Amino acid sequence: MPEMSKAFIKTLAIDDVEGLFLSLGEKPYRARQLFNWLYEKNVESFHDMTNFSKELRQALDERYDLSSLVLDDRLVSALDGTEKYLFKTRDGHFIESVLIRRDGTDEGRLTVCVSSQVGCPMGCGFCQTARIGFRRNLEPAEILDQLCHVRRLSGVRNNNVVFMGMGEPFLNYENVLTAADIMNYSYGFHLSVRKITISTCGILPGIERFIDEKRPYNLAISLNDADPAKRARYMPVEKKYPIETVAALLEKKFPVSRNRLTLEYIMRKDNISPEDARRLKKMFRQGWIKLNLIPLNRGDHGMELPTDDEMERFVKELEIMNVPVSVRKSSGKDIDGACGQLSGRRYHEAGKPDAGVRQPGKHCDTTVIK
Ligand code: SAH
Repeated sequence: MPEMSKAFIKTLAIDDVEGLFLSLGEKPYRARQLFNWLYEKNVESFHDMTNFSKELRQALDERYDLSSLVLDDRLVSALDGTEKYLFKTRDGHFIESVLIRRDGTDEGRLTVCVSSQVGCPMGCGFCQTARIGFRRNLEPAEILDQLCHVRRLSGVRNNNVVFMGMGEPFLNYENVLTAADIMNYSYGFHLSVRKITISTCGILPGIERFIDEKRPYNLAISLNDADPAKRARYMPVEKKYPIETVAALLEKKFPVSRNRLTLEYIMRKDNISPEDARRLKKMFRQGWIKLNLIPLNRGDHGMELPTDDEMERFVKELEIMNVPVSVRKSSGKDIDGACGQLSGRRYHEAGKPDAGVRQPGKHCDTTVIK
């Protein structure tokens, strides 16, 4: 008989682990100790959990897998220290995570960008993840393990987390929120809610549920076009959940929620006119703390990138109109680690000039670490 796959321990929330420990004849407080080992200490084996009896360690090991992912590749940008990690799931899928060092060192702001699905079903015209289509949702363990592995491999701690990798978080609502809660537990990673941001292309029922459940995390909405007709051309979600409906919901419910809300806006050649700026100004409401502008990154979308001058003009226009803006620096461009560039394809399959060669620094500014 083929061996049954073990469940992933990191998919369990604290109540589940307390129940498990009771069933094993252990005290419930041990659940907190387990979380401490899994996330704070970030151990790689149940056998390292030295304040557990041998029998308990054995029992856990027989029933659960501690890690759900295996590192397949790690690329470090020579431009800005951004790192892209390619992980393989137990059933053979590839997902990617990115570590962003805002000022290129470990001293400045550190952000880990995690994936929530294998691929994505949303079909946005500018995004590389859309090209591989949707395969499946990630389990909480697979989301948390991205953070565990990135921290262990990079030595980074106390980072921010953004759910802006592959996938649409609000189509995997339960698992994403379970993972976010575990990141927030005081006896786990202990990341403050201000350090966790969930990004959505505008899945209306997900946004409403998030607000109704009073989830405390930051929310980001990928707007990308203030003109609904234009938005629909690039983002099929506009046809199902028009951004105006999303905006109306936020206007009605947002005052009662404590979340911090940002709007993300990719700057393309065709959405940065003065008319676009005026539309954005009209859309901007109280409660939306910031418009986060992202220069269009290259991909298979076939679009010409806007010039620096064009983008600067647009940013100035918005500033003059008092729209609070920030411009996101595109990180890790040389390793396809920037927004909308995650496809989970192996580097040598991505049609790079050094396909299959991987000579660090020779054909591109990328260091490959294995
Ligand atoms: N599905 C969620 C989470 C992914 S976030 C969402 O849409 O919010 C990924 C962000 O990168 C989104 O804001 C998206 O609009 C942006 N993006 C996608 N392709 C891009 C590209 N080629 N250049 C710049 N940003 C891009």
